[in-house]
Amino acid sequence: MANYIIITGGVVSGLGKGITTASIGKILQLHGYSVTAMKIDPYINYDAGTLRPTEHGEVWVTEDGGEIDQDLGHYERFLDINIPKHHNITTGQVYSAVIEKERKGEYLGKTVQPIPHVTDEIKRRIRMPARETDVDFVLVEIGGTVGDYENVLFLEAVRQMKLEGDNVLYVHVTYVPVLKSLGEQKTKPTQHSVKLLREIGIQPDFIITRTEEPLDDVRREKIAMFCNVHEEYVVSDPNIDNVYAVPLLFEEQKLSKKILDKLGLKTRGNNLSMWRDFIKKTRSIKKKIRIGIVGKYFDIGSFKLSDSYISVIEAVKHAAWNNNLHPEIKWIDSKLFEKKPEKIDMLDEVDGIIVPGGFGLSGINGKIATIRYARENNIPYLGLCLGMQLAVVEYARHICNLKNAHSTEINKKTPHPVIDFIPEQIKIIRESRYGATMRLGSYPAVLKKGTKVRNLYQKSRVYERHRHRYEVNPKYVDILEKNGLIFSGKSPDGILMEFMELPDHPYFVATQSHPEFKSRPMKPAPLFNGFIEAAKKNIS
Ligand code: GLN
Repeated sequence: MANYIIITGGVVSGLGKGITTASIGKILQLHGYSVTAMKIDPYINYDAGTLRPTEHGEVWVTEDGGEIDQDLGHYERFLDINIPKHHNITTGQVYSAVIEKERKGEYLGKTVQPIPHVTDEIKRRIRMPARETDVDFVLVEIGGTVGDYENVLFLEAVRQMKLEGDNVLYVHVTYVPVLKSLGEQKTKPTQHSVKLLREIGIQPDFIITRTEEPLDDVRREKIAMFCNVHEEYVVSDPNIDNVYAVPLLFEEQKLSKKILDKLGLKTRGNNLSMWRDFIKKTRSIKKKIRIGIVGKYFDIGSFKLSDSYISVIEAVKHAAWNNNLHPEIKWIDSKLFEKKPEKIDMLDEVDGIIVPGGFGLSGINGKIATIRYARENNIPYLGLCLGMQLAVVEYARHICNLKNAHSTEINKKTPHPVIDFIPEQIKIIRESRYGATMRLGSYPAVLKKGTKVRNLYQKSRVYERHRHRYEVNPKYVDILEKNGLIFSGKSPDGILMEFMELPDHPYFVATQSHPEFKSRPMKPAPLFNGFIEAAKKNIS
């Protein structure tokens, strides 16, 4: 029978519940248990595919083509497993399923109500992974904060699970602020948050306190007393230098043993040393590598949201650590090069350049200028999805002499549509069916012998995840190839261009896919690794 660990959050959002969930999963996994994780997003969107990255962070893509909240990415990276799309539950999915059943007459005669019909549907979905596999632990992170209107029914559903006999532990993650004027950790917000949770009928088994500095003993006692949780189950989770070290922080406080004890389980052997060695290695790295990420999803108000590119950042870290380097990421807003073209030489300050995925018109010309600069000045370049499409546009314009070549996403009337709709997309867009209709999820590509890409992957057939509507137009493949561009990977039928590279350049590689989604802390994605290896040569 599976064990469920339910993770809720209190006080403020943005506590890093995803990292906490992934880290709890990791320590249980390193003690020999199989673990999976789920994320509940209380919004009404059916999935994250239609959300703007500056609003909700990156859209994570699963192997099976789900467009999901970025927390699934944390789970996959920490646990090194593939998580299917039905491990993400949204209010939109739950209600549409309930309404569909009602229309089919499945509740005939009944008044369909939030409790029990909606909560039953939620529980059915939460129990699905354990029905499909014999996994030992299912971690369920409930998005939002206790006290929000929108997650009440999810909390009610997980409350009922325990009553119905499931093995359930509740973990509540809160924030313990320090008031500057007092210099003291304040526990009152945590007390209030737990009070709200208990009003719903959930008594947390563990309280994990997010703090600037480690939680002190006085505050620990206070939280224990007022929240009805024994002191040893109050866990300190201070800010640290590396998120991948959070499992170790929990382990120092014997969290896995405490969880297993509560469930009457024992360790199946401790494999933490490999994780410990990995963290130790990352901490011993001194040398830096400067990577420029030229994008557009940075500006929301007066601060920057690097969350929009989280998987790209993590993939850069993994590859850099693998090369004994610390990445220093420089965010470059491509719109800057449109307003001030002379600023383009600031790209000389980085050792390598990435143009990541993106949608829409803004910042496009700045990105094309960036790619041209990287190509002409031999700066290692990695293009991801839009970053490949624009590399093709740039090459078509400046090498193949195809004046005003463009992607039809940006200019529908271009005389040379080198990037165009995937044929099946035309109908979809005409019918305004925007949700979950891109080319999504894992697709194979066959790699060409003797290319850089093939050498990096060390195999002839690879699978990477996709999320796009546009493609290299097959009509232009010939002219691009004749002018020296190499398509190093194509779909097995040879129609879709999946990877490209330029010879006689230290590293100019791009892909229509998103290899960042498959990068893992100890297994960097091959294209990122090759990119860092090339950029390393520029370190002054
Ligand atoms: N906007 C482009 C497309 O839809 C690129 C998408 C992406 O970069 N993920 O094809």
